[in-house]
Amino acid sequence: MSKANGGLTEEELKSFWMPFSTNRLYKAAPHFLREASGLYFKSDKGQRVMDAVSGLWCCSLGHGRKEIAQAVYEQLCTLDYAPSYQLSHELPFKLSRRLLNYLPDDFSQVFYVNSGSEAAETALKMALAYHQLSGKTEKVRLIGRELGYHGAGFGAISVGGIPNNSRLFPNQLQFTDRLPVARGDNPFIKGEPERDDTQAEKLLELIEKYSAETIAAVIVEPVSCSGGVLVPPEGYLKRLREICTEHDILLIVDEVICALGRLGHPFSSVERFGVIPDFITTAKSLANGVIPLGAVFVRSGIYDVFLSKSDTLVDFFHGYTFTANPAACAAAMACMDIAEREGLYYRASELESYWEQAVHSLRGSPHVKDIRNLGLLAGIELVPAPGELPGYRTWQLFRNCFEKGVLVRANGEVLALCPPLIIETSDIDYIINVLSDELGKLK
Ligand code: PMP
Repeated sequence: MSKANGGLTEEELKSFWMPFSTNRLYKAAPHFLREASGLYFKSDKGQRVMDAVSGLWCCSLGHGRKEIAQAVYEQLCTLDYAPSYQLSHELPFKLSRRLLNYLPDDFSQVFYVNSGSEAAETALKMALAYHQLSGKTEKVRLIGRELGYHGAGFGAISVGGIPNNSRLFPNQLQFTDRLPVARGDNPFIKGEPERDDTQAEKLLELIEKYSAETIAAVIVEPVSCSGGVLVPPEGYLKRLREICTEHDILLIVDEVICALGRLGHPFSSVERFGVIPDFITTAKSLANGVIPLGAVFVRSGIYDVFLSKSDTLVDFFHGYTFTANPAACAAAMACMDIAEREGLYYRASELESYWEQAVHSLRGSPHVKDIRNLGLLAGIELVPAPGELPGYRTWQLFRNCFEKGVLVRANGEVLALCPPLIIETSDIDYIINVLSDELGKLK
């Protein structure tokens, strides 16, 4: 049997359907990872590769954290599973209280899920169900944003705005629409573009079109990450919140990436952008990407409506077999211990200006069309390569940087950076030097 890449046979290579449509480009020469520690992966060829994307925007505490492994091990030896149906265990209650301590009293419950996608589905369903239970049965419309990404489920793709994710599915949820993407017209803006309320006020046009009585909820990311690291103008979320409040529309802020330190605070919507959403979703870094875990934070009063109706047959029958899985909760507790001890929820704000200068230093390359940044996030948008497949240049850079020891993320024409929060300024220099060299070599 012939051996292909990574020491796998052709049959083995064919057997795993790699997620996301990048298969076409990536499966031809997959990169295999064998080990991970601190900021580094080690490939099957023994190469050390600095992780400049926190895995997939999720390993914020860095890799190989023995404390998490130990907590998971001990949990599995003590209570490996507790059915989520009509039973539970202590950990999710304790974890919820601990997480809620980072939010104002406006939030009162946490619902656990296994991914960002499930967090989005859960929040969307909660929003719809809340209005139904409140007697506002006409409120069924869900509004997302162009280039928004909330996951792979039908709810998420119906409100999401990345055309590739929904192209093959004509039968999505009915009654959805999208706000236009909030992106400044001028390239190379550092941090948030200048205040421009017209972006958020596009919601008023949708209210005019459909009437507020039919709109249940709006869902947006603080920064659209998968859409290309698009940073909305200053005051965007605040204005959206005002309009939603005025028109009795629930606001869901998808902090699957942006919570837990990515933008310099435990929860960016509340602390950085000064709004109180009705639901905050998170996942990714909650268990540092090592065990699937996500959560929906619910504003006070919402749960009470569900409770007040729960003696009827219209209970909110929603959950997952692995909701509040004991090992995942134990991992999240250990992650909180680490983040609190090492000050990682606030680390991005210390590094932000250094990071900003560093990423914007790549502006000189003729292949670079725009650079955007916020917290410890950056997107470097390239000029598309004429006559090549979309994303060809970022794919080339992804491969070349990997060979030179840096993992970046190719995201259409945008190269995304999202390093672990344990990064030092010298590591930032290293990433930028490799990127700068490799940009310089592009044809
Ligand atoms: N929301 C956002 C903002 C995301 O970035 C992602 C994943 N990139 C998701 C939801 C979906 O998360 P998951 O892949 O864990 O389902």
